[in-house]
Amino acid sequence: MSFLTLTRIQKSFGPVQVVKDFNMAIEKGEFVSFLGPSGCGKTTVLRMIAGFESPSGGAITINGRNQNDLRPNQRNIGMVFQAYALFPNMNVFDNVAFGLKVAGRPKAEIETRVKEMLKLIHLEHLADRFPFQMSGGQQQRVALARALAPKPQVLLLDEPLSALDAKIRVSLREEIRMIQQQLGITTVFVTHDQEEALSISDRIVVMNAGRADQIGSPFDIYNRPATRFVANFVGTLNLIDAKVVDPSANRVSIGDQGVTLREPLGAVKAGDTVSLALRPEAGSIAEGAKGDTALTGTVVSTNFLGSVIRTRMKVGASVISFDMFNAPGLVPPSVGETVTLRFTASDLLVIRD
Ligand code: ATP
Repeated sequence: MSFLTLTRIQKSFGPVQVVKDFNMAIEKGEFVSFLGPSGCGKTTVLRMIAGFESPSGGAITINGRNQNDLRPNQRNIGMVFQAYALFPNMNVFDNVAFGLKVAGRPKAEIETRVKEMLKLIHLEHLADRFPFQMSGGQQQRVALARALAPKPQVLLLDEPLSALDAKIRVSLREEIRMIQQQLGITTVFVTHDQEEALSISDRIVVMNAGRADQIGSPFDIYNRPATRFVANFVGTLNLIDAKVVDPSANRVSIGDQGVTLREPLGAVKAGDTVSLALRPEAGSIAEGAKGDTALTGTVVSTNFLGSVIRTRMKVGASVISFDMFNAPGLVPPSVGETVTLRFTASDLLVIRD
């Protein structure tokens, strides 16, 4: 049996159901991210795992034990919140020691454990500082150490990086992942940032309106989105309307250009419209670019994004974005220019939902 299971979890606030039939089985030591837009129920599910909210239906188990009737302090769960929730009147040492003191651990054990935790987050030298004397990133590391000190069986992280600036966010997420792997602690991480979820998770749950739309590895979620919602939410994706020309041969047209898909089209007939997805990085307009499929269009804009240049071209009624890596000597196409994008037919996914 999986270490942390959520079975048919429901949650209503008054007449509004915000979590609907949520199912998830998390293995011991796994790092799982709940990814979704604001209001989709991520935090509510996390709070139910922690025991701060009771499910309206369904069961939560940790290590085979039903948690529904346990109070938060009986669940042995560590939690880090978005806002720096350190005790402002306590120094770093006392903040980290807090859970151990509440649990009545002996003084010598507390001392050893707090030192161990401060070493883990590389802040041994700041044990006497107070929260107001530290940066946001340092405070969140202390919050992490405080959550881990009592050796929780599950670690819950509720958007712990969202208040930090971009550079610190990236380095702290890597640090969190390293510590999580070092300790082998089962972790659930809530975020609305797809790059964050893709970069540090073993698996991602993409949530949409209180439900799990797709559960999979970062690679699967990004490359094989199961629904239009996932395709749209995870990464930048072109959604292209195509007309079915010959379903038995997987033949469609985009504008007036014919394309043969690798994927079967399923139960459709000639003349139906289907949605296709194409990642901006899938194709190239460079001379000699490889690929069994081509679409020709007119450039409508180019955007310089630093390491890539994103160009949009019009093909029939669709606008398709594609990326070029910034390289010395690269001349991006001009607006109004006709370009041909080459890619492999298998990069065109049929979106079914
Ligand atoms: P965010 O990324 O903005 O935190 P979220 O996906 O974590 O969003 P939740 O905080 O779980 O979303 O909220 C889901 C829905 O439940 C929202 O519509 C929210 O307004 C509602 N909600 C959350 N807590 C309560 C509450 N205590 N009473 C009433 N409604 C609530």
